[in-house]
Amino acid sequence: MYKNSGRCLDEYMVNDDDASQYLRECAIAALIIVGAYTLFITELISSLILFIIVAVTLPRWIINVHELLHAKSSEQINGIIRCLGISPVPLSIFTLSYQQIHEIHLAHHRHAATESDPDAYHIRGNLFLIILNSLTTPEQSFLRWVKINGFSPQLGIDLLIKLVFLVILALLGGKKFLFFLLFIRIVYGLGDLVFFRLVHHQKGEYGTFEMKLPSIITTWGERIFGRTVIQATINHDVHHQNPRIAAHNLAKVREHIMVS
Ligand SMILES: [Zn+2]
Ligand SMILES: [Zn+2]
Repeated sequence: MYKNSGRCLDEYMVNDDDASQYLRECAIAALIIVGAYTLFITELISSLILFIIVAVTLPRWIINVHELLHAKSSEQINGIIRCLGISPVPLSIFTLSYQQIHEIHLAHHRHAATESDPDAYHIRGNLFLIILNSLTTPEQSFLRWVKINGFSPQLGIDLLIKLVFLVILALLGGKKFLFFLLFIRIVYGLGDLVFFRLVHHQKGEYGTFEMKLPSIITTWGERIFGRTVIQATINHDVHHQNPRIAAHNLAKVREHIMVS
C-alpha cells in the first residue's frame, strides 16, 4: 500500500551517476561472459565453471538494463544496449531491442500482474505453464510484439546484427556454443521466473510484493549477484510504487512510502 508521507523523495531518484554505473556494470558483465566463453572454447575452463560464471554475471546485465529502462529512453541509450536489449548474448534469433522492451516494461508497470499486463503470460496461471513461458519469453515477447505492433526496419536491422554476432560465436565455438547458449537460456529463464512470477504472485494472489528473505541470504545474494540485482528484486513492490527510485535506495525509501 502507498503512504504519502509528503517527504521529498528527490534525493532517492535515479540520476545520471546511477545510469553511468548501470552502463559500466553492463559493460563489465558483457566482457566477463564473452571472456568466459573464450576460455571455455579454448578448454581453459570447464562447462561447470562457465555455467557458474553465466549464472552470477548474466543477472547483472539483465537487472542493470532494467534499471536503465527507468532512466533512459531508447534515443538516450548507447547503440550497443539499444540493439542487444535484455542480454549481451542474443537469447535467440528472434529477440526484441531496447525500444520495444522499454515500451513493454512501462506497460507492465501500468498494468502490473493484471490480465492487461503484457507480461501476464509469464506471471498469471499455473506454475508449470509459467515455467514453460519463462523459458520461452524471448521468442514469445518477440512474437506478441510483432503481432500487435508489426515489424519495423530498425528491428530487422537489429535482428540481423544479433544474428551475425550469434553466427560468429557459433563458428568460434562449434558444439560448445550450444552449451553456452543453453546455459544463458536456463539462467535467463530462472531469472525471469523470479523477476516476474515470484515478485508478482504470492499466496494465490496477484499483485506486487516484497520478497522477505533472511538477512544472511540477502547479504550473500548481494555478494554473489551484486547489490543492484538483489535490491531491485526483493524491493520490487517499492519499485512499482515509484519506478524512478534508484535500486540502491529502494530499501531506504520503503519506510517513507509503504504501509505494511
Ligand atoms: Zn514488475
Ligand atoms: Zn521496472
